[in-house]
This record gives sequence, C-alpha cells and structure tokens, in this order.
Amino acid sequence: MSSHHNLIALVTRQAPEAEKAWLDTLRNAMPHEVILPVQEMSDAERAQADIAIVANPDPADLELLPNLVWVHSLWAGVERLVMELEGFDRPIVRLVDPKLSETMAEAVLAWTLYLSRDMPAYASQQRQKLWQQLDYRAASDTRVGVLGLGALGSAASKLLKQVGFDVSGWSRSPKDIADMICYSGDDGLRQLLGHSDILVCLLPLTADTIGLLNAEKLALLPSRSGIINFARGKVVVTADLIQALESEKIKHAVLDVFDAEPLGDTSPLWSHPGVTVLPHISAPTNAGTAAAIVAGNIGRYRKRGELPAAIDFSRGY
Ligand code: NAP
Repeated sequence: MSSHHNLIALVTRQAPEAEKAWLDTLRNAMPHEVILPVQEMSDAERAQADIAIVANPDPADLELLPNLVWVHSLWAGVERLVMELEGFDRPIVRLVDPKLSETMAEAVLAWTLYLSRDMPAYASQQRQKLWQQLDYRAASDTRVGVLGLGALGSAASKLLKQVGFDVSGWSRSPKDIADMICYSGDDGLRQLLGHSDILVCLLPLTADTIGLLNAEKLALLPSRSGIINFARGKVVVTADLIQALESEKIKHAVLDVFDAEPLGDTSPLWSHPGVTVLPHISAPTNAGTAAAIVAGNIGRYRKRGELPAAIDFSRGY
C-alpha cells in the first residue's frame, strides 16, 4: 500500500446507538483521523489500524487487529480491562479527564454534606413527624478520610478542604499535599480509619484493594461514622458493612457501586435505613470532554510519538 494511512478501530461492547454516538463524537474531535468500528472493517483495514479506542472491548475483537500499537480506553476505571486483557502486551491508556475529576469532586462534596449535616436523620424524623434538633458539627470539626489520592481522590480532597472539612488521605505511594495529612501503607490505613468521621473510597479495584474494607478495618472507624463508596463495590465487604451498620459502628453508608450492577431486587441494601443506594451516577463520563482528551493524546502520538502513562498490569491500575 503506497498511500499508507493509519486507521483507528473503535472496539466496544455497547448497544449500536451508544457506539454510534461515540463514533460521531470521536470523528468530530479528530476530523483528520479515519475511525471505523472494528466489526465494519475489512481485513486490509484492520491491518492498517495502529490505535484502538475501546469501551469494554471484547478481547477477541482486539485480536482482529494485528498491527495495533496501543489502545485508548474511553473509561477512567480499568479493572475490567486489567482482568480481561491479562497478558496483553501493548500499552493501554485510560481516560484521565479533569472534567470527570471535577464531577466526582462535586459528588463527594454533595454526599459528604449529606452525611455531615445529618440529612438521612432529618428525612427519617420528618417521616415520623418528629421535631428534634440534632447536635451541629461544623465542617472544620468533621474529619474526612479519602482512600485513593489519584485523579479523583486528589480533586475531591481539594474541594472538601476548600469547604473547610478536616481532610486526610491514603494512597499506595507516600504523598505530600498542602493542608492535609497523607498516609500510605497498612499502618497508615489504620491511622486514617481511626480518625475518619466520614470515609470516602476512591480506590481502584485491584488484587490489593478487593475486600480491603472488611470487618476488621471497619471496626477501626470512630463509632457512628459515615462511609461513601464511589469507587468499586468489591473494595467493601458488603456483609461486613451491613454488620457495622447493624451495630451502629457506621451510622450511614452512601453507595454508588456494588458487587453486581444493577443491584439485585433481593439485596438488603435497598431497604436498609442506614444505606443510600445510588445507581452508579457519581461521575458519568462526559463524551465531549472525553473525546477531546482522546484526540489530544492521539494528536501528540501522531506528531511526536508520545504516549500518556499506560496501565501497569503488575499493580493492577
Ligand atoms: P487513579 O488516578 O489511578 O488513582 C488511584 C489512587 O488509588 C492512587 O492514589 C493510588 O495510589 C491509590 N491506590 C491504588 N492501589 C492502592 C493500594 N493498594 N493501597 C493504597 N492506595 C492505592 O484512579 P482515579 O482516576 O482516581 O479513579 C479511581 C477509581 O474510581 C477508578 O479505578 C474507578 O474504579 C472509580 N471510578 C468510579 C466512578 C463512578 O462513577 N462511581 C467513575 C470513575 C471512576 P498512588 O497514588 O500511590 O498510585
């Protein structure tokens, strides 16, 4: 092929309309690129694809592309890619979108205030026609522990600090962030849990974080604490969380993510008075900003051969 042109394959397991919407948005963001759904490509076209843009790709579809150099995911979370593409030897870049971090920070602030200003308790009192003033605790007297200080956790911590919360954080590698104590390691986690009136989980799901928040760890929280899980359901052991709610160790849990989604009808979480169930809405991907980020990354690769940091399969995120 003399007029060799690199193509981009779009590989998703989405419904046709959803995939078509992504295709249009991506083509608009990269008018100079030729982007084709992998299922509509000829073998010759597949051989020309050096980049795949993916959303929950079927691993078998990626194998149709023999000359793939790297993969860009449209999602921020990578747990499914890491699980399904074990052994895949080309770089996989995930979406890091400041707009998504901002959306998540807004959600963390909203639900932290929901807990700190006792909204669940007042809603329940209203149902009982109960006029009762609970003790007010100022944001500055409310200790919020943020698990995970990556793109999402660091943005959430910053916004919580702006509003006056007493914020600490925990991550795998030690961090130095202004106006907050940052912990790492197992001892660090124990210390953080010991003074988190509200615990916010923004950790990726990995071999190290699956089941991390079990009975033993939850027991370290101050009594009548709150917990917000906006990361992945399996970081928290659901049965242990329910136990902690029953014993009033934990006063209220706000859950946006679950072991299985959608949450099944028979889950006790639906009707537990100490649980707020959200249908995975804390930080939806914004197709417009996501496509612009992907276009920027692909543009830099075409011009200078640069790639953003890729998923590290050995650490799992
Ligand atoms: P990220 O930038 O990769 O940050 C992950 C953070 O977790 C980092 O600070 C990392 O530590 C820390 N971490 C990872 N493994 C750890 C371990 N074993 N012990 C201690 N800390 C550990 O990820 P992100 O963009 O912030 O996203 C976090 C997660 O949010 C995603 O993986 C996804 O599951 C979830 N998410 C949820 C929604 C939603 O709508 N509910 C939307 C988007 C994403 P280092 O800083 O040392 O690397």
